[in-house]
Parts: sequence; C-alpha cells; structure tokens
Amino acid sequence: MQKNYVIGFPRIGEKRELKKVLEKYWAKQSDFGDVKYVASQLKKRHWNYQKEAKIEFISSNDFSYYDNMLDTSILLGAIPKRFENLKNEELYFAMARGNETCVAMEMTKWFNTNYHYIVPEISKESTFKLNSEKVIEEYKEAHELGIKTKINLTGAITYLGLSKSVDNSDVFLHINKVVEVYKELLEEISKLDDEVIVQFDEPLFVKDLDSKVLSLIKPVYDALASVTPNIKIVVTTYFEHSNEATKILVNTPIWALGLDFIYGNKNFDAIELIKNSNKVLIAGVIDGRNIWKSNFQDKIQLLNKISKIVDKENIIVGTSCSLLHVPFTLSYEDNLDKEIKSWLAFANEKLKELSLVSKQFFDFKLNLDEVSIIRKNSEDNNQRKISSKIHNLKIQEEIKNLKVWERVDKFQDRIKVQREFFNYDFLTTTTIGSFPQTPEIRENRKNYKANLISKEEYEAEIKKYIDDCVAFQEEIGLDVLVHGEPERNDMVEYFGEMLDGFAFTQNAWVQSYGSRCVKPPLIYGDVNRENPMTVEWIKYAQSKTSKVMKGMLTGPVTILNWSFVRDDLPRSEVTKQIAYAICKEVDDLQKHGIKMIQVDEAAFKEGYPLRIENIKEYENWAVDNFKLSVSSAKVDTQIHTHMCYSEFNDIIKTIEAMDADVISIETARSGNRLLRIFKEVAYKQEIGPGIYDIHSPRVPSVEEMVKQIKALIEVLPKEQLWINPDCGLKTRKWNEVKQSLKNMVEAVNIIKKGEVK
Ligand code: GLN
Ligand code: ZN
Repeated sequence: MQKNYVIGFPRIGEKRELKKVLEKYWAKQSDFGDVKYVASQLKKRHWNYQKEAKIEFISSNDFSYYDNMLDTSILLGAIPKRFENLKNEELYFAMARGNETCVAMEMTKWFNTNYHYIVPEISKESTFKLNSEKVIEEYKEAHELGIKTKINLTGAITYLGLSKSVDNSDVFLHINKVVEVYKELLEEISKLDDEVIVQFDEPLFVKDLDSKVLSLIKPVYDALASVTPNIKIVVTTYFEHSNEATKILVNTPIWALGLDFIYGNKNFDAIELIKNSNKVLIAGVIDGRNIWKSNFQDKIQLLNKISKIVDKENIIVGTSCSLLHVPFTLSYEDNLDKEIKSWLAFANEKLKELSLVSKQFFDFKLNLDEVSIIRKNSEDNNQRKISSKIHNLKIQEEIKNLKVWERVDKFQDRIKVQREFFNYDFLTTTTIGSFPQTPEIRENRKNYKANLISKEEYEAEIKKYIDDCVAFQEEIGLDVLVHGEPERNDMVEYFGEMLDGFAFTQNAWVQSYGSRCVKPPLIYGDVNRENPMTVEWIKYAQSKTSKVMKGMLTGPVTILNWSFVRDDLPRSEVTKQIAYAICKEVDDLQKHGIKMIQVDEAAFKEGYPLRIENIKEYENWAVDNFKLSVSSAKVDTQIHTHMCYSEFNDIIKTIEAMDADVISIETARSGNRLLRIFKEVAYKQEIGPGIYDIHSPRVPSVEEMVKQIKALIEVLPKEQLWINPDCGLKTRKWNEVKQSLKNMVEAVNIIKKGEVK
C-alpha cells in the first residue's frame, strides 16, 4: 500500500501524439482506427508511468478524445436534438466541433484554468440514458495490463451546474434523472471486480453555492453511495476550499473526500469533521497547476499539520487536482538552463514526487536511490532560494522606492488636452493592433530563430510588412494607425523573451481545448526590463505616416495570467514587477514621440478568484498594477486598453477604476445590449465597442455596420465612441481584413455625412 493518489493524468501525449493523430483524422488523412490505436498506446504508457512511479490510485476514464465533460454528456445520453441522427465518433466530434449542418456546442473555461470544456446543453425536455461503454472498456483495458484503476466520473451536481439551459429552465430539474443513470452505471461497475473505487469530481463545490444547490448534495451522495457495498465513493474538489460541501458530505455514506491544500488552504477549517466522521481524506498537497519542484520538507510539514487533525491512517497523499493542467515531462527540455530546470517538476516528475512524499510521510523504508533523490530535492530547493538568477536587488530597490503609482493628471483634465491635441471629431476609427500573420511572416520568424537568415534580412522583411500595413491603413482612411505586430508570435511570449525573469520551454505543452495546446512561459525570477522592447518598431512605423501611430503593449495582469508564475513571491508582487517594466516602456515610447499607447489586458477577467471573498483583493492589486504600468504617461499621452470580452456587468466599476482613456471591447455579437451597462453607471472614459466579429471570416457589409453604429449612438454620445473591430486581426486573411476595414470606414463616413445634414 503506497497510500498515494493521482486525481487525473494528462492525455495529449508527451509529444502531443493525440493532437497530431486527431488533426490528421479531421483532415481526412487517417481513419478513426488510427486515432483509437494512438489512444490505446497513450493510455497504456500513461498507466505504466504511474505504475512505475508506484502510484497506488491510478485513474481510468481520465482519458478523453476531446474533453471529459463532453464524454459525460455522451455517458448520460444528454445529446442535443440537432445531433440526433449521428452516431459514434461522428456524433462525438460534431458535438465538439460542429459539422456541415450542426453548429458545435459551446465551449468555456474550466473554472480558473486555461482548460476549456464543452458546455452541456439542457432544456426542460432533456432526457438521459446510460451509455456506459467508454467507462467500462477503459477499466477493462487497464485491468488487462494488470492495473486496477479507480474510475473517474464528473459529479452529477457539477455536470448540471456547469451546463447551460437553452430554454431558461432550471438545470437542476434533472438531478434525479442524472442520479438514476449514475446508479445504473454503478450497478454495472460493481460487477467489474470485488471492490471498485469511483471518483466523482465535484469542483463546483468550491464556488459560493446557494442553499438550493447545497441542499442537493446530501440526497445525491446518500443515493450514490448506497447503490452497492462493493463500491467506494470518493468525492474530489479542487482549485479552492469546499467547506460548505465538506460539512454535508461527511454525513453521507461516501468513503473519501479529496481536498486541495495548495489552492484551498481554508479546507483546514472543516477537516475536523472528516476526523469525526471517520472518512478518508485524500490530501491534495502536490501542486497540479504549477510547475515548481515540490519542497519535500514543506510537504511533510503540511501533511503533519493535517495529521494533527485527521488520523494518519485515514490520510492518503494526493495531487491537488488533475495533472492535466501541467506539461507532461521535463525529459525533452534540452535547451532550458540547467539551474532553472532543476527547480521544475512536470506531470511525470510530479508522480515521483508524490510517491516519495507519501513514502516519507508514512515512514516507509527508502532505498538508497530514494535517499539521494530526497537529498537532491533539498539541495535544489535551497539553491533556488539564493540563486542570483532569481533575485535582482536593483529592481527590488527601485520598486521599493517608487513614488508614482498612477498617472498624475485626472481623466477630466487629460481628455481635454488630448482632444485638443489629436483633434478628432467623433467616431474615431482604429484597429486593435495585429494584422494578418501571413505564412511569409511566420516563415521569416522561423528562419531567423533557426539562424538561417541574418538579423538584417529578418528585419527587412518585417519592415516591408509594416510599410504595406501602414500604406493600406492610410489608403482606406483609418484615423489611428497601428504597425500590425508582424514581429510578434504571441502577445505574452514576445515580451517575456525580452524581460529578465522569464524562461521558455521547447515542449511544455498544456491542453487548452480539444487538440489545441498552449506553451505558457515560466516566470522564475525578478522581472526586469533592461532595454526597450517595442520602441524601434513603433518608431519605424510612425516614420512612415503623418497620422497617429498607436503603440502596442501587453498589460501586466495578462502577462501574469498566461504564464506559470513563481511560487516564492505573491502574484501581486510579481505583477508589480511586470507593471514596472511596462511603465518604463510606456515612457520610452512617449519620449520617442508615440502619443497613443494601447496596453492590452485580454486576460484581466480570467484571473478572477473563484470565491467572492477573494475578489476585492484581486481587483485591488490588478487595477493598481495596471495603473502602475501606465503611470509614466504624460497628460497628452493617450492610454488605450483592450479586453476580449463584453460581459462587464459585474466588474464595470473595476474597469472604470483602471482609468484608461479609451477601452476597446468585444460587443460585436450583442448589438448595443451590453453597452448599456456603461451608460447605466455613467462611465466617463471613451469606449470602442467592437463593431464586427473578427472570429469569423465573414466580411460584414457597409449597411450592417451603419446599423450597428447607429445602435451604439443610441446608447452613448458619439464623442465618447471609437469605431474598431472587436479584437486583433492576426488570425484573419488579408482579403477579408481589407474588405471589412474598408466597409467599416465607409460606414463611419456615411454616418458622419448624415450628421452634417
Ligand atoms: N493587440 C493584440 C492584437 O491585436 C490584442 C490581442 C488580444 O486581445 N487577444 O492581436
Ligand atoms: Zn482581443
């Protein structure tokens, strides 16, 4: 008995094998048999890795061709009507991605991670019917390899709670039906073996739940845990504490509770109850969301603290959540700095950590190899604390002595000066920054990175792009121009590569949705900007036009939210260092004559905490750091920001507090409905509500855009409005962009002429 437990394991493959075969299959270059073959190889490999690492509780049904929530919809037979004529893989991938006749189901972020799940669609008429094949087959597949797994399922309450009702009916109307299907499934599972463990994931329990949802917990788990005596039920929560649910679950016949002690420190407040009820506690102490090597001593200390409350024999040591949210393995990181690499642990390395931490905690006998790994762990962690790579005293000192944390001038004063200076009348036209990333631009970047072309050749190509981009914008008569961002691969990586304190990996991919993976940078040390990052390019672009050139930067909160962040400093402090770096860039830009600067905060909303009790604190430091990042801007430097969403109702006051002169947002798909909130709160600053949707290749007509602009003017005075697309244009084709922007400018001209009359 190892007494260790992995909530779930990544499935995309250490070399993204699943991604590759799926994309081939979708492109009709291979058949579904190939996908199945790769999947079975991956499952086998992943089970074996866990077995080799001596993990006792290994999952089945954590694998998925696309997404576990989608799998759950299939399992429960919750198939939206429009797909009813489809079967098997056609059905599955049509639900995920749409097909010629059916639109895909919606996708949204899984709690506060960057993973996205397929949102179940529920209506009053929804029916449910068990389809147990995948669950049962996967268990048997592992069994044949000699591995007895626990079975992972999405909890009934989380499943319904995260679904969307297409007819506004109450999603929980169906809770009894879902429980019935699960009971039937448990009956089937009980025949698989003498004893089977079933894990129900209920991350919804970490949110602030109303009493109605809380009242479902007891009946649901009373029912599920009494189906048959040979099934042991585990309920796992993660990403935060779940004290309200814990209090209820201890009074149900479940066997164990899995709690997150990394992101849910407050779980301590309710574990006394676990002791009293004699439940097993799966103590999530190995971080499933970040990539730093565990400090064994700290982990043992944490476990000791837990075991002061819960009896040691009732503790199992676990991961804080599924390892899905970290990259697979460090094995392929040959280019990473050796020292930095010694501070990291990805999913595969975390298995070994988990196993060793549980061995130490339970005083199992260690072999010599293990003793030396433990010694090395302590050395690496001590060395990390004092490494000169991490600590930049100069920058720490500068920040400590900072006097100015926000712009000196008030918006009312700034905007007067700016209006006079820029001399725009109203409905000023601009874009969000990027223009199409062409194959040539990508090729150019790749060749330069591979040392196949010289710096001069690389830069000449970028300049050519900027020339064309500026010429085009002038030709169609946009008011405020941009350089097009041809030198950037990504809005975070570009800046990270030029800042101290960031590292980049070769293979640290994390699944974002379906076959799509992202490779977030690692922020390992104090962030410092030694040299300007964007000034040369923006200056060059400005030299090509007498119109205003808008500089483009990524904001501190977005850089933070899209990176793996060091765990030895509070996130707010890390953000402060990034903000300070951006602040210097803003200053350099304005010193070089750039009078309009956009600081993108695409991921501002993503960082919101899951619990209401933590929101104020996040908002305070996120806003403060945004303000710091533009604090160097002079009264006549106009600061823009951009956010890729439109639902501002709950955070409008925070958005206003960011105090940007102009904000551009995504409202294209909602007409003027979402803009009304700005009017309701008497929002002062200027706004560019995206007037067309850049996420589709469709070119909107002039008439359509005229209509859209008219709808906007109904809500807000035209002097307060800017006209722009709803996001950057980098994913579009030039021919679409050219026509759309031409139409946009023409639409504004039509409205303006109407005004003159
Ligand atoms: N300036 C960036 C661009 O135009 C903004 C991207 C974003 O909001 N996601 O691409
Ligand atoms: Zn955007």
